[in-house]
Amino acid sequence: MMRIREAAPARAPAGPERSPDGIERRGGAGRRPGAVSCGPVRAPLDLAALAARLPPRPRTRFAPAPTGALHLGHVVNAIYVWGLARALGGEVVLRVEDHDRQRCRPAFERGLLDDLDWLGFEPDHYPTHAFRAGACEGRQQDREGVYREAVGRLVADGLIYGCTCTRKQIEEAGGTDTTELRYPGTCRAAGHPLDEGVGWRLRLDDRLVRFEDGRLGAQAQAPAAQCGDVLVRDRLGNWTYQFAVAVDDMAQDVALVVRGMDLLPSTGRQILMAELLGRHVPAVFVHHPLVMKSPSAKLSKSDGDTGVTDLRQQGWTPAAVIGAAAARVGLLSAPRALAARDVSTLFSA
Ligand SMILES: [Zn+2]
Repeated sequence: MMRIREAAPARAPAGPERSPDGIERRGGAGRRPGAVSCGPVRAPLDLAALAARLPPRPRTRFAPAPTGALHLGHVVNAIYVWGLARALGGEVVLRVEDHDRQRCRPAFERGLLDDLDWLGFEPDHYPTHAFRAGACEGRQQDREGVYREAVGRLVADGLIYGCTCTRKQIEEAGGTDTTELRYPGTCRAAGHPLDEGVGWRLRLDDRLVRFEDGRLGAQAQAPAAQCGDVLVRDRLGNWTYQFAVAVDDMAQDVALVVRGMDLLPSTGRQILMAELLGRHVPAVFVHHPLVMKSPSAKLSKSDGDTGVTDLRQQGWTPAAVIGAAAARVGLLSAPRALAARDVSTLFSA
């Protein structure tokens, strides 16, 4: 069996605690505040088993949101995305997830395209110059018609309803469970028209969604109990992340979704939404460790010391940045220069 080459810790590695359900619980006891840790417990990744579940030349995607600058967390994601794609003989789609018009900025998009080029990660579909040239199918704000068409099918199936609830109202109705905001279904039978100014929600049944994470193994999630009926369009007219991603992954033939552990709890609802949208074979998901600023805080876009642009200005080379990122999550036992074209060596036998 081919296994991912990772530093093999003799004892349980330092990092956030993980519960048996595979969902990271941050804030483990006894950790020094501000210390840099390497993310959650590392699981082996069986490349042959992953390949057996995927079509030939499987497509995956790198999908940053232009709400800030690229940082080491994005570089880790790029290492996993390109590394697995190349090791599997697959292809990478570049997608700019700018569905949130209030938070996204064209300047951030330009920055992330420049940083990606500088690092040397080359997408197979929607190259960076295609985004710079203007409207591009890889950019969510240029896909309004695709989302309209997709939501139209759900509306025709009677699965979408209008919701006038504010976040505060949902919080107040949701009780004391603070792990996630759960929508209690207040407007399910209210008959609000699907106008501008109201949220659009997708009716979810209460089934348990089972899936096999490519790194973490068997998972089971109950989206209706976790989050309730999912918002597909917010009151400002933005398509939501959950909806846009489910539509795009299906429309762009993405067979393998490679993303950080922080998104693991939302995988069941993505699989369920894709099925309701008409996807017959669900994507295979691989959730990878996060670069943590501290045991209780994941790296954010405001952590300038780990921004790719900042490191670049400090004189780092692309290979040094990639090697440092790989070491932060245990893909290398220590930082060393690693070029973007060589990241598949981390995943090959
Ligand atoms: Zn409501």
